[in-house]
Amino acid sequence: MRITLKDAATKLKSANKILVTAHVQPDGDAIGSTLAAMMILRSLGKSAQIFIDDTARRNLHALPHFDEIKRPAEGETFDADLLLVLDTSTDRLGNVRKMTDAPILNVDHHVTNTGDDGDLYLEPDAAATCEIVFKLAGELGATITPEIATCLYTGLATDTGFFQYANTRAKTLAVASELVACGVRPNQISELMERKTFAEVQGLSVALDSLKIHFDGKVAGMTLDNAAAKKFDSTEGFIDQIRVIDTVDVAFLITEREPNFCRVSMRSKGTDVAKIAAKLGGGGHVRAAGCTLKMPLADAEKILVEAIGAAL
Ligand code: 5GP
Ligand code: MN
Repeated sequence: MRITLKDAATKLKSANKILVTAHVQPDGDAIGSTLAAMMILRSLGKSAQIFIDDTARRNLHALPHFDEIKRPAEGETFDADLLLVLDTSTDRLGNVRKMTDAPILNVDHHVTNTGDDGDLYLEPDAAATCEIVFKLAGELGATITPEIATCLYTGLATDTGFFQYANTRAKTLAVASELVACGVRPNQISELMERKTFAEVQGLSVALDSLKIHFDGKVAGMTLDNAAAKKFDSTEGFIDQIRVIDTVDVAFLITEREPNFCRVSMRSKGTDVAKIAAKLGGGGHVRAAGCTLKMPLADAEKILVEAIGAAL
């Protein structure tokens, strides 16, 4: 059920033991929003613990309190009176979804979130879930410490491509400005997030080798097979390298994480890629979306190119 920001704050106020979580393959917004929420809730005297059923990219490990994030063991449960789900619908939580039967409070900005599992506060025009958590903190009367601000700014910056994407609005920059006033050092976060290992840059070169253009240059795609994907642990930012091609509207990257298990990332300059992803069982935003295709890489590429072609 859709609820208001005030209702969401009320639910947090009346809870005492809160399990905080976000999506698998957590990005800067997932990690930033959960860490900030945990610190905000603890500052209000509540017990809060983050569980995420995945590992995060190494660049995010330096965020304050990152080492307190736990991954559930097989069958592990957690005694909570509220499950706070951030930056995703509840179908991308892995085993965390099964850790508790507590009521769900879902706070998200993905247009594709239909909110049929628990109470949902959805703000599709928020640039990042961190932008909403900042507003929630205000509603709760919490103080934004430099540590909280650092986590919120990281999510805001990574989900907007450092304030370059179309989701960057006046209110996004206004929140960023307040966070900087709270003690964030934007240059330090930029340097931390853009850092790549030698192997990651080698992976980019392998991905670029696979670059193909479709539909008169309107679509550009890269693929990484399982052998390559196993060698290079992160593909973060690869897709941005082909999104810039002048004729390209839709860019995609397919990574064969496991045999017959392909992860798809899409970016666009206009076409609604969330719709394409949703048709293939995934979701996301108009200009950034993804899905999982459980099939061989060549089949995944064929199906994806067809689906994009139909949407152009
Ligand atoms: P990325 O390409 O960075 O992995 O994802 C782009 C956007 O699409 C993110 O906002 C992400 O949350 C969303 N997204 C990616 N994969 C999926 C998916 O399988 N399901 C849903 N619902 N959203 C996804
Ligand atoms: Mn997000």
